[in-house]
Amino acid sequence: MPELPTGHRIPDELHDVATRLVEEMPTTRRQLEELVRIPSIGAQPEHADDVALSARATAELLRDAGLEGVEVLTLEGMAPAVTGHWLHAGEDLPTVLFYAHHDVQPVGTPDRWNSPPFEPTERDGRLYGRGAADDKAGVLAHVAAIRAWLGARGALPVNVKVIIEGEEEIGSPNLAALLATYGELLASDVIVLTDLVNWQIGWPSLTYALRGMGEATVTVRALQQPVHSGMWGGLVPDALTGMVRLLASLHDDTGAIAVDGFADDVRALPEQERARFDALDADEDAMRRDVRMRDGVEFIGDAGTGMLERLWMQPTITPTGIDAPRVAEASNTLLSEVRVKLSCRFAPGQDPDRALQALRDHLETHVPWGLELEVTLGERNPAWVTEPSGPAWDAAVAAMTAAYGREPAAIGCGGSIPFVAPFSEAFGGAPCLLVGVEDPASNAHGEDESLHLDDFVRACLSEAMLLDELAQRAAR
Ligand SMILES: [Zn+2]
Repeated sequence: MPELPTGHRIPDELHDVATRLVEEMPTTRRQLEELVRIPSIGAQPEHADDVALSARATAELLRDAGLEGVEVLTLEGMAPAVTGHWLHAGEDLPTVLFYAHHDVQPVGTPDRWNSPPFEPTERDGRLYGRGAADDKAGVLAHVAAIRAWLGARGALPVNVKVIIEGEEEIGSPNLAALLATYGELLASDVIVLTDLVNWQIGWPSLTYALRGMGEATVTVRALQQPVHSGMWGGLVPDALTGMVRLLASLHDDTGAIAVDGFADDVRALPEQERARFDALDADEDAMRRDVRMRDGVEFIGDAGTGMLERLWMQPTITPTGIDAPRVAEASNTLLSEVRVKLSCRFAPGQDPDRALQALRDHLETHVPWGLELEVTLGERNPAWVTEPSGPAWDAAVAAMTAAYGREPAAIGCGGSIPFVAPFSEAFGGAPCLLVGVEDPASNAHGEDESLHLDDFVRACLSEAMLLDELAQRAAR
């Protein structure tokens, strides 16, 4: 007889559903591993067939869980999404939309993985593999919760729709089209996004703020072509030194953004939120360990601003790629042209168009020595923030408290999920519950991504409990 996790506070009348879910965890785990074996890397066109394969596998999982109307949704130029539903709870009860995504990030440096990224491997209670946490665990959390209810009771306590996106990791470029074409099919009263990070292992969280994201490509040119560094160095500038000076001007000595106007419209942090962050008592050493900072490396940013505020409520500008000759191929020349990709995270309140324009203005005024500058602004989406309160929020707090035996923390997230704002808006401001399957050591997007297996059981259980809590509140 499988046991419910220690410390849980699941009410007796739901033990049949919870026990069913725990009994089926070996199946859930096997299905997660099968999904992780598919290298559905959205950013690499050579993996397009794998993204299509993972969409079909996901559809199979939804059908197997007992959903109806399961369909792979396709649109011109969009990676396939998957949907399904169960709508027999009655019109008086709310409809919940479960969101996750089945595409994954590239693997990064293969040598830095301790086991191959697409061969799910268990070590020390964690399942390692690309997508094991972000976000194939999210897909399986939905599947586990739905299957447990349908298995134990033959019905769900509310109406449920599911959308599993296929291009979240490339910034969801076709969201508007997805919404225009399938908005009615997906319309819901509450959205549950299982793609976030829990505050700590065993301590769940609800995320009420996400940073937005944008990018710029910056090219600096000094010459028509590279020239002899001995003949001309010291008199003629090179593009790489110019670019490095330009990049250095983006931040002050502490690493805080030094771009005039960039952060002017960032929302001031209400005292209540600051107090909430302080109460979380962020452990600096644990953070250093979780991100694997090297000894002696310091945190950056304005020391007068709290660490969590810097992570969740302040913007960033980070160079993430540079086109310049490799060291092994370097010749003794002054470089004529260098190109950089800048990735920005936007804070709540910030207008991305305005911020990117401020960045462009800064680059134009700071490029040294009259070098030629070209700036191309890319995709952008704003931050999202909601009130951490209301009936749906309370339902999620109750469900997580039952499954984890501990009340969730209300937190922000430095990352971005473009889906949230447009879909919530389209569904009349439907509340969005952002819940986690990751923990701070999951290293999503990095090498050795992993899922904490005990917490995964609790994450699945809290979704099953959430459906009941939402039904209870609607009935009151
Ligand atoms: Zn994700």
